[in-house]
Amino acid sequence: MAVNTEAYQSIKKELDAKQVTLFAVIKTKPVEDIIALYELGQRDFGENYVQELVDKQAQLPKDIRWHFIGHLQSNKVKYIAPFVHLIHGVDSFKLLKEINKEAAKNNRVIDVLLQVHIAQEETKFGLDEEELKSIYNRNSDGLQELKNVRICGLMGMASFSDDLEKVKGEFKYLKSLFEWYTDLPIANSQLNTLSMGMSGDYRLAIGEGSTMVRIGSLLFGARNYAK
Ligand SMILES: *Cc1c(COP(=O)(O)O)cnc(C)c1O
Repeated sequence: MAVNTEAYQSIKKELDAKQVTLFAVIKTKPVEDIIALYELGQRDFGENYVQELVDKQAQLPKDIRWHFIGHLQSNKVKYIAPFVHLIHGVDSFKLLKEINKEAAKNNRVIDVLLQVHIAQEETKFGLDEEELKSIYNRNSDGLQELKNVRICGLMGMASFSDDLEKVKGEFKYLKSLFEWYTDLPIANSQLNTLSMGMSGDYRLAIGEGSTMVRIGSLLFGARNYAK
């Protein structure tokens, strides 16, 4: 299924009015679909797989901002470090250190979001409140030493649930953590992005303060993993 141009334009308009950034989640989508959205003005695209991101980046216009939204393994950071715009879903200090190292090799500062586990499902990745705290509370090998990464926000995925109050509560919780960590006197932690909300729950997420939504299936129709 190709790009749903009408859906894109109406979502884009809705989000622009609220100053929320839309990025298109393109996992498993062919290059032609990305170009179709690019031609409508879309510049932020997100992928879950390192190899897909690398291949697509090589083929597509250089003014695209590439987001990595999957679960990133430390040994793969090097492949995306030269060009990635924002790494969502960082969930350990070890990974932050690795990103810092690869960013330094490329003479860049890489922006990241810390992923917080807000859903009830055990399978979703992310830091719990204590782990988040421990990233900020390190002394000797602390966050401030990582000069080539900048934490610019938090990211979370709510439960897959019809219970809207529950989903809303999870977004509220993430927003409260976001506020808590926003004004810390740490040079490389400047929180301005709260990435929450996908095709099924983006309106709820925006209602709770999301500044960036990650939309896939609404723009493309259902994903085809069998391909
Ligand atoms: C796939 C994915 C999305 C988009 O999901 P849709 O429901 O298709 O909009 C958003 N965020 C992450 C982390 C994803 O893996």
